[in-house]
Order: sequence, then structure tokens, then C-alpha cells
Amino acid sequence: MSARLAAELARAVAGPVRRPADPGFSAELAGFQLGLRHRPDVVVGALDAADVRAALRIAGDHAIPVTVHGTGHGMRSAADGGIVLGLRRLNEVEIDPVAGTARLGGGATWAEVIAATAPHGLLPPSGSAAGVGAAGYVFGGGLGLLARSDGWACDHVRSFTVATLDGTEREVGPDDTERFARLRGTGPVHGEVVTAMTVGLLPGGPLQGGGLTFDLGPATAGGDPAVLQAYREWTDALPDDLTSALRVMSFPDLDVLPLPLRGRRIARIAVASRGTAPAAERLVAPLRDAAPVIEDTLAPLRFTESARVHAEPADPGAYIGENLLLGRLDPAALDALAELSGPTMVIMNIRHLGAALARPPAVPDTVRGRDAHYLVSAVSPVDPRVSLADPAAAHAQASPVWALEPFAAARLGTSPAFTAGPRG
Ligand SMILES: Cc1cc2nc3c(=O)[nH]c(=O)nc-3n(C[C@H](O)[C@H](O)[C@H](O)COP(=O)(O)OP(=O)(O)OC[C@H]3O[C@@H](n4cnc5c(N)ncnc54)[C@H](O)[C@@H]3O)c2cc1C
Repeated sequence: MSARLAAELARAVAGPVRRPADPGFSAELAGFQLGLRHRPDVVVGALDAADVRAALRIAGDHAIPVTVHGTGHGMRSAADGGIVLGLRRLNEVEIDPVAGTARLGGGATWAEVIAATAPHGLLPPSGSAAGVGAAGYVFGGGLGLLARSDGWACDHVRSFTVATLDGTEREVGPDDTERFARLRGTGPVHGEVVTAMTVGLLPGGPLQGGGLTFDLGPATAGGDPAVLQAYREWTDALPDDLTSALRVMSFPDLDVLPLPLRGRRIARIAVASRGTAPAAERLVAPLRDAAPVIEDTLAPLRFTESARVHAEPADPGAYIGENLLLGRLDPAALDALAELSGPTMVIMNIRHLGAALARPPAVPDTVRGRDAHYLVSAVSPVDPRVSLADPAAAHAQASPVWALEPFAAARLGTSPAFTAGPRG
């Protein structure tokens, strides 16, 4: 069956069609999440929207399941059989500087979009890691680097081009109310592939960004919660043009790490703001006064360097991510965070929401988190050998859910965007 299917696909598409024994099969399936690997009968590396339509029509004709493979940042499960449709070559970006929009291929990453918008002095509503796929990101709402001033990324989408299992394509915009709302906050259903989208760009202007790093104490002992409590008080009274996040993690005592991090429990506050350097300096002063800062990278920000604000690892890894949308930050939860220890290593991240993120959308969407004031996420690295062999067992062993328990009393829901990794 898979030989006949591959032959039919190869006749219909221009991009590579690979079966498991073919050279290039694994390369087509490579992605950011190393803890899950698709095992399709056939992978198609679409060259363009015509390839996507042709592959979907064949999948539809034979009732074969089809899975879309973007960058892999948000993978939750691996396909077992069927067709995997790789979108990474659909990465064209066309800027209309007069309309202030970008037309992106369904496989474009934010890095590719930022490179194209920068010469025009315009910004896309991208987030902390530029390697994330723009389409996959807006399906979850899209919490941007400047989210509190610019709102949910999905509300800047003007229209999607969506291909379906009958091999046709349609434009989905505000007139297609239900589908447009579902794609912006919930995502596609089986057999829908976004081959392109048009996104409204944001004005440039002076930007500031960077991180303030604090040493909470030895990783093996309870840490000092002072800076975490200071973050809570600070975020209570911030203007809309400042967006921030607090990350807490413990580093093992390994000599490959920089000396100040080795064996220490570290907090890092990422800050991005629209406005001048003196204004940003004034706003962060209470944080600098709260505890000694061991590294301070706050400085004028070129958007092409936006990844330095959150300074997240850019290399692929195996990880499980869980999250909670919160109505408030409880002081007791932050005390617990300062001394958090449990069965798995966790990287905790608290993003400050509200401001433009709380305003009703001009066109209905299905975003979760408009009523939330914070989003707390917990990410645990997992051994890729274990998760590839048995994702469900790896999830049971390495799930970071335990680390969210201190925050549960203020829970309003969860965000689909920050849930990832092996589940089985
Ligand atoms: C390091 C890191 C940083 C992050 N930072 C942020 C952030 O700042 N803000 C934020 O909101 N989110 C952030 N996220 C979450 C991210 O937005 C989600 O993981 C998102 O799902 C990634 O989309 P992707 O296309 O890159 O990943 P993928 O795993 O390839 O895709 C995610 C899902 O969307 C589907 N899909 C992708 N493209 C298409 C398409 N064109 N048509 C149909 N289906 C498609 C895939 O099949 C899959 O089910 C981050 C994630 C990571 C790992």
C-alpha cells in the first residue's frame, strides 16, 4: 500500500516523497521536539501550495490520515502511519509596506518574517523564540514579545489561505466568522492546512529589551523569594507598553556552565518595552533595588535580535510543557517557587498578561487567557531515548505538572500554546 501511495504522491507533487527506507526520510521529519518522531508511511516535503492541495486530495480520496509537520516546537503526539506533510519549504514572505502587511507561507518561521520586515522598520507580532512557526503560533493565540502593548498575535491576522481534503483552497477571513475565530486561538481541524496567511505588521519606533538575572541561592537549598515577591508587586502597577516574564530554574553543579550559574537557583526577568531607554530604566529601577543583579542586559533593542530578550535555548531538545492561566499571583505560590524541588528538573516561566491582551478583539477569536493576569508554564527536559520508546511512560515519569500545584488556587484555565511534548 505504501509503495503505491508513494508512487501516486510522487506523480502528483513536485517536492520530495519519501518512505521509511528512503534516504532523506528522517531529514524531512526533523524538528525542534526530539522526544517525539512521526512514523508515517510516506512523508511529502511540499514545495508550494499546489503540492499541499495535491497531497491532501490523495489523502482525502483514500481516507488516509494526514499530519502537518511545521517546526515541531508544539508537537504533542507523533503520527503512526498515514501521510506527513512537511511545510518548511513554504517559507516565502512578501511585505506590502503601504498596507503594512506581510503575506507569509504556511511554513514560515518568525525569524524569516523578522528578516523581511526589518528593512521596512515594521515588526511582526512574534514571540520569545524566532524559530517558532508563525502559523502554529497564531493558532494558540500568540503571546508576543510586546504582547501587553500590541495584543494577541492572532488578532493581527487579516486572512488565512486554507487547503482541505478535497484538494481545494479557500480564503478564510472575518466574513467566515466561525472558521476565522477557530483558527485564531484553537487551530485547524484534521485535513485543514494553512498554506499562507496575511498578517498586519506593527509600527517600529524605539524599543528596549533584555534580562535581569538574580541569584536566589544554592540549587540544593530553598532560595530567597524576595525578588519573586518584588516581581509580583512590580507587575501590579506597570504601563501597557512594558511586557515581561520571570523565569526560575536551578542549574546543576557542572563545570561546563558559567561559574555564576553552577549549582545555583537563578531567577531571570525578561523585559521588552516600547519607549525610550530612560523610561525603561525608570520602570525597572524597583527590580534592580530588590536584590543584587548578577547580569543585566537591558539595552536598546533591534528587533532582529529579539531572541536576546528571553534568551531561551535555540537548539532542539526533548521536553514536556504544561501551563496554567492565572487570575492572580499568590505570594505563597512565589514562596513555594523559590524553594521548588520535586521529581523532575523544571524550568518555570511566569508571563505577565493583561493590558492589550485583556481587550475584546475587533473580530471574534477563540483565544484563552483574556481574563488572566499571568500565565505560568513548567517545562521539564526528558531523555529522548525514553520518550521515543514510550512517550506515555515518559510523560508519566517526567511530567512537570507537580510544579504548577502551588499556583492551582488561582487557575482560570490552560493555554494550548504552552502545552507540548510526549504524551503517547
Ligand atoms: C522555545 C519555545 C518558545 C515559545 N515561545 C512562544 C511565545 O513567545 N509565544 C507564544 O504564543 N508561543 C510560544 N511558544 C509556543 C508555540 O507558539 C507553539 O509551540 C506552536 O504550536 C509552535 O508552532 P510551530 O508551527 O512552530 O510548531 P509545530 O509543532 O510544527 O506545529 C504546531 C501544531 O500546528 C500544526 N501546524 C503548524 N503549521 C501548520 C499549518 N500551516 N497548517 C496547519 N497546521 C499547522 C502542526 O501540525 C501542529 O499540530 C514557544 C514554544 C517553544 C518551544
